[in-house]
Amino acid sequence: MFGRDARQARRLRACSECGSRAVSAITDSEVSEIQVLLELRCGACGTWRTAHLDWWRAHFVRAQLERRHRRDRRDMTDDLRRLRLAGVEPADFAPPGPETSVFH
Ligand SMILES: [Zn+2]
Repeated sequence: MFGRDARQARRLRACSECGSRAVSAITDSEVSEIQVLLELRCGACGTWRTAHLDWWRAHFVRAQLERRHRRDRRDMTDDLRRLRLAGVEPADFAPPGPETSVFH
């Protein structure tokens, strides 16, 4: 039970489609008194990844993600400010290959 739960939680770390660790949305719904269905939407390709977790682990995973999300957003804001100052355009960042394309 414990090991299976940990595997489920690990599955949430990266997108199975594109491998991105970015998350654009999180939802959770109670499955039973002890279980929660946690769903994350990939920030790169929009694929949902889901896991059934004990509520305490779901809570932990969610808190971790939100902490990372805040840090990422702060980093991105800093990066954007630096890029704007340097005069770099968004078009300069074309995706490197079809697997990582944002457009499906
Ligand atoms: Zn993805």
